[in-house]
Amino acid sequence: MRLGHARGAPTRQDRSSQLRRDQEAAPKLRAMFPAVEQLRFELTFKGGTVSTPVPQSHVLHPPARAYFSFPCPYADCDGRFELAAAVHAAVEDPSHRIEGVLECAGSRASDFASKPPCQLRLHFTLTAVCLPAH
Ligand SMILES: [Zn+2]
Repeated sequence: MRLGHARGAPTRQDRSSQLRRDQEAAPKLRAMFPAVEQLRFELTFKGGTVSTPVPQSHVLHPPARAYFSFPCPYADCDGRFELAAAVHAAVEDPSHRIEGVLECAGSRASDFASKPPCQLRLHFTLTAVCLPAH
């Protein structure tokens, strides 16, 4: 009997090269949001089962790719946090600042038989620094 990966299921390596391809295919930030000078992501995590991942912060500048999908910080999890909707909301909001919580929908592969759901919670603060309108 064969346990573990279903035939054709992507490995983590496939996933990270797919991630890179998606990233390279994304438009530049300045093409998508011409008024944005900087996008700042502050990410904190809660509810980790074994250990809670350390906070992260990311800053994107206009020449960067407008790609807002962050992989779950657990190495054995296949989940991603999609922040594209939050980026649009932050750019459109007059305060240019959005906070929110997302839950990881991935599963942890450390236990192949049960693949427990990850459910790590991400609390994000997203700030868009915009050029003054003129
Ligand atoms: Zn996860």
